[in-house]
Amino acid sequence: MSDFRLEGGCQCGAVRYVLTAPPIMAYACHCKQCQRICGSAFAVACAVLQDTMEITRGELARVDWTVESGVHRYGEFCVDCGTRIRHGSVPDQGIYSLRGGTLDNKDWTYPVAHIWQSSKTDWIKLPDDALTYDGQPTDYTPIIVAYRTRMGLE
Ligand SMILES: [Zn+2]
Ligand SMILES: [Zn+2]
Repeated sequence: MSDFRLEGGCQCGAVRYVLTAPPIMAYACHCKQCQRICGSAFAVACAVLQDTMEITRGELARVDWTVESGVHRYGEFCVDCGTRIRHGSVPDQGIYSLRGGTLDNKDWTYPVAHIWQSSKTDWIKLPDDALTYDGQPTDYTPIIVAYRTRMGLE
């Protein structure tokens, strides 16, 4: 996998990044926080190992908050245009939740799962084969397996 490269960046182009391994999984989050953050019906998140994501250009600023479960989260965004690039947790889990829409190649953003159905916007119709969760999944294994199968990763 050492030759793998997947690039992305912000709206204005000041921030660019590279992934040196495929995402672990991609899913759509329909929680109220994500709806506000991305100004849309849901967010597409790609989980990536922190070691496999490098910011190659530009500067990120950071905003922090605490979710209902008490977990401390943060988001990083381009200082010039404000595009949200990725989220992380404190304490650090070694994983970023990359905002999928910032990838140049959207093939890797197919959301095999849709989480937080409890706050899903009514007019969204999900694919028949989507994995669905009322809230936050307790076990991500089925999502990882479904994503790897869909992407042809062994
Ligand atoms: Zn920017
Ligand atoms: Zn969310």
